[in-house]
Amino acid sequence: MPHVNGLRCKECGTDYPIEPLYVCDFCFGPLEVTYDYDAVSRSISRASIERGPATLWRYADLLPAGASNAVDIGAGLTPLLKADNLGEVLGLDNLWIKNDTANPTHSFKDRVVSVAATKTLEFGFDTLACPSTGNLAGATAAHGRKAKLNTMVFVPHDLESAKINMAAIFGSVILVRGNYDDVNRLCSELADERRWAFVNVNMRPYYSEGSKSLGFELAEQLGWRAPRHIVVPVASGSLLTKVWKGLREFTDLDLIDDSPTSMHVAQAEGCSPVARAVQEGDSHPRPVVPNTVAKSLAIGSPADGYYSAKIATESGGRGCIVPEEDVAAGIRLLAETEGIFAETAGGVVISALKQLAESGAISRDEETVALITGSGLKTMDAVADSIRVTTIDADVRSFDEMMLGAVA
Ligand SMILES: *Cc1c(COP(=O)(O)O)cnc(C)c1O
Ligand SMILES: [Zn+2]
Repeated sequence: MPHVNGLRCKECGTDYPIEPLYVCDFCFGPLEVTYDYDAVSRSISRASIERGPATLWRYADLLPAGASNAVDIGAGLTPLLKADNLGEVLGLDNLWIKNDTANPTHSFKDRVVSVAATKTLEFGFDTLACPSTGNLAGATAAHGRKAKLNTMVFVPHDLESAKINMAAIFGSVILVRGNYDDVNRLCSELADERRWAFVNVNMRPYYSEGSKSLGFELAEQLGWRAPRHIVVPVASGSLLTKVWKGLREFTDLDLIDDSPTSMHVAQAEGCSPVARAVQEGDSHPRPVVPNTVAKSLAIGSPADGYYSAKIATESGGRGCIVPEEDVAAGIRLLAETEGIFAETAGGVVISALKQLAESGAISRDEETVALITGSGLKTMDAVADSIRVTTIDADVRSFDEMMLGAVA
């Protein structure tokens, strides 16, 4: 972490040293990593990044942990795909899909955990832990193994079984009777009592910086420029704020030109506090009790809800509330047009994108990136209704009969 200055309160600006701290003693505001940007600008260039590893660690100059001892199982540098088929359906000529299902544990959470786990080793903790809505559990458990740390992940008891199993193959999973907000509260209490690294609690300032890499990659993969629109699935709001921060940093370091990007919030109706706040011009999202098929986005009291609503509003982004029945429709539309199988959060993003295209908020020629942050294999139940398969005998007659039946 060559260029890190320290931590700073986002509210009152009080400075803190680089420690496992996350809230301001004076105003309870969240703490954020600050950098020595003069030093960064002397060592970073498009060429230095392009020479770097094919993971998020190519952006180490703007991350808060050292690349030399990185806990690296290959997170980041996922494909950015031109989505012409989907674009044709939606009336968008310049549409891209950022496919973060291609990460090692099949969600963008590998990005944040790779950074948090590296910082955990630097601080000398022996246990890596988290409260999770699902994807974070698998990412934390996997990176914990690679780092030879104990792992302890806490999830709501009614989580999809694929997400539970994905984490359990690597480490200890604890099912908590309650929703994510209950799990999070429990972990905040445990974090005060134990010397454990909770990636998204006491390690949150470092963890969240990992999401900047998604913004850096978009810009690099587009040929060093920022897109006009980004559609972001929102749970705690951290991803949206950090993709934005990443683009600001690249702009300020002259790695890309200064051009406007609107950040759109995508949430499912059953948990849409941030999208609603943006729609109603209300900067403080009102907490809700989540009841949605998009479990990875089911945070009723989003820690970065205020900041994400503010960025969306100030950047000209919209708040998109996707009806619950449109979540599976969005998954299917992406699968049928682009050959990508997204989880429910991706269904939310694609249906939000459709709303934005139909309402004219995104116009035909404007460059747009939709963030697909997790794999559909983890949320099979959501599309079970629409899956059709046929069984035949191993002879041609049986096959011909089936074909006739399909035509009839
Ligand atoms: C966690 C998660 C998000 C949103 O993350 P936040 O940073 O908490 O807003 C989006 N998509 C998927 C698949 C996730 O697991
Ligand atoms: Zn403060």
